[in-house]
Amino acid sequence: NAKAQGRGCFSFFDFNINARNQRMIKVKHALRSAIEDKEFSLVYQPKVNPAQMTLTGYEALIRWDSAQLGPISPAEFIPIAEESGEIERITDWVLQRVATDMQVSNVLDRSNVSINISAKQFRSDAWINTLRELDANNLINAHAITIEVTETALVDSFDKTLEQLQALRDLGATIAIDDFGTGYSSLSYLKKMPIQYLKIDRSFVKDIGVDPDDQTIVQTVIVMSHALGIKVIAEGAESQEQVDFLSAQQCDEIQGYYFAKPMPLQDLAKFSLQEPAEA
Ligand code: C2E
Ligand code: MG
Ligand code: MG
Ligand code: MG
Repeated sequence: NAKAQGRGCFSFFDFNINARNQRMIKVKHALRSAIEDKEFSLVYQPKVNPAQMTLTGYEALIRWDSAQLGPISPAEFIPIAEESGEIERITDWVLQRVATDMQVSNVLDRSNVSINISAKQFRSDAWINTLRELDANNLINAHAITIEVTETALVDSFDKTLEQLQALRDLGATIAIDDFGTGYSSLSYLKKMPIQYLKIDRSFVKDIGVDPDDQTIVQTVIVMSHALGIKVIAEGAESQEQVDFLSAQQCDEIQGYYFAKPMPLQDLAKFSLQEPAEA
């Protein structure tokens, strides 16, 4: 431990914590004006049905190019936005932007679009009300929307989440459990939740062909889901080998650099499934 290794180690450790705190404070501060300063954008990543080689929809993923800090990954700023409460406004922005994009793009207007919602937001109704309003005003068609949420929401506050998911189903939206396998949800949770898709986390897909255990996990999740009447989508497929394995296991849909990276709206029309993207 640190103490046994002497005092130098302590100060090195403190320095890292300090640097990380400084960065978090900067990010948190910069987030406050990001919407007004038009620093966010959305990119869309195609989803593919491997059996039919057809596009089944797109996942909307946020991008942030901060004037002060440069480009920042959502993996870094979304957790900070959750902590500061800024996530509410960000999700509203995402919902509105998806609505506009689906109106103007003749690729998206005929497709299903997935939107990521932080597990923490399942404690409040605000964002569902935004979606409901957009739908009521014909600015978005909730039937064409898939909501992606991680297992954390199911485990953290079961009753509230169930109520929210039911409200989403009433609106006609599809529900997918994102990053499946990384959380702590059990079969009993899945059985009680009105979900249509499980999304197998990239960490399992990554080692297909490398780690037999991960292959077994992927196989088992697919068999189990299908037995429960739930479809499976795999995220992060990058190689032919992974795609072949997933297809052979009857994985319903695949997403990953093998087929396409996330891209700006204006590039969607140019994209076709014929030529796989260079990884
Ligand atoms: P996620 O929802 O699990 O999204 C998948 C992530 O994997 C995306 O990263 C995507 O760009 C990346 N990815 C897709 N295919 C591949 C592949 O073949 N190889 C590799 N290495 N990566 C691949 P991204 O866009 O950086 O987003 C990271 C996470 O940030 C997302 O994970 C999601 O949890 C969160 N996020 C992104 N956009 C939003 C948003 O609008 N709202 C919320 N609440 N969270 C978001
Ligand atoms: Mg997702
Ligand atoms: Mg995911
Ligand atoms: Mg993920």
